[in-house]
Amino acid sequence: MIAFNEPVYIEKGIGYIAEAILKNKRLNGDGPFTAQCTEWMEKKCGEGVKILLTTSCTHALEMAALLAEIKPGDEVIMPSYTFVSTGDAFALRGAKIRFVDIRKDTMNIDETLIENAITDKTKAIVPVHYAGVGCEMDTILDIAKRNHLFVIEDAAQGMMASYKGRYLGTIGDFGTYSFHETKNYTMGEGGAILINNEKYVHRGEIIREKGTNRAQYFRGEVDKYSWVDMGSSYLPSEMNAAYLLPQLEQAEAINHRRLELWNLYDQELKELEEMDKIELPCIPKECQHNGHMFYVKTRDLKERTKLIQYLEQNDVNAVFHYVPLHSSKAGKKYGTFVGEDKYTTSESERLVRLPMFYALKDEEVKYTAQMVKNFYSRE
Ligand SMILES: *Cc1c(COP(=O)(O)O)cnc(C)c1O
Repeated sequence: MIAFNEPVYIEKGIGYIAEAILKNKRLNGDGPFTAQCTEWMEKKCGEGVKILLTTSCTHALEMAALLAEIKPGDEVIMPSYTFVSTGDAFALRGAKIRFVDIRKDTMNIDETLIENAITDKTKAIVPVHYAGVGCEMDTILDIAKRNHLFVIEDAAQGMMASYKGRYLGTIGDFGTYSFHETKNYTMGEGGAILINNEKYVHRGEIIREKGTNRAQYFRGEVDKYSWVDMGSSYLPSEMNAAYLLPQLEQAEAINHRRLELWNLYDQELKELEEMDKIELPCIPKECQHNGHMFYVKTRDLKERTKLIQYLEQNDVNAVFHYVPLHSSKAGKKYGTFVGEDKYTTSESERLVRLPMFYALKDEEVKYTAQMVKNFYSRE
């Protein structure tokens, strides 16, 4: 069976974990491995971006909601085609979610529909960079600026990908990454918040450290630390950071390999697209993606179910993705869909994700693509 996903494994990770345990004898958060991961990412992202490692992308989104001071009654705009965490972080603060439709080509929020969803209660726009393909950020930033809104990028899938040469997650006020085992770089469970406005760095450190100024204390800026604000515990353990570090050290090679696999799928399946049997992902010219996901779109839900079954029978684990949030129990409670659901439901029902992970082999991509072709040649 070709698995849908396998977590990235770099042998050095084991040595680093052993080092955290046996040499550093330090397992709690913000030790040397966390510092090295953070340093690497900050160097990569460039000037003016402060990064804090977190226990998950969900928690990074929660931190962003706290930093943006989202309160009960506020409204937040996001696509309905996203993971539950994008909604959760704001529902937890008592906000109402305004879901808007997606673009058919990228499955990202349709930037032309955002303005219509803004009211005098709107506080933030949360673009989700689906499959590591950037949203139309220039338009989104412009809308946010004119309406005094925060932009919080859910870049869970977007590390190493960029929009007009700027890394995803570094463009809005805040950005979030995920290091869950299904993502391109992983620490099992983990994530990071990118704070792109210096003004919020101090409070970000406090919120992450249970509402204390412990980070300042460790830098010797204050002589004791105490409870100064609300917060929670968003620090990952050093063992998790140790697992992540060697992947960051090899981030370019990992990214390169994923793109190779992605391009191979694209090449192998092009003919089916030309025959109008399936649709393949679209990468706008402003975007450099990171090979996070390879999907195909079938004609409809019925055909997708059959394709997934056919692949399963032929030892390939292919999976569908999000059930739109506005159709879920909690989505109905905490949000409303604004405007027409032209693409969210219909396009989400057509999408199938094919196996995609760092250790995947060329032969496995070719075999999977062949099985998709076989499925369509039976008709
Ligand atoms: C994976 C993912 C998340 C959640 O990430 P965790 O690190 O598991 O909390 C949030 N949003 C999107 C778009 C994701 O893909």
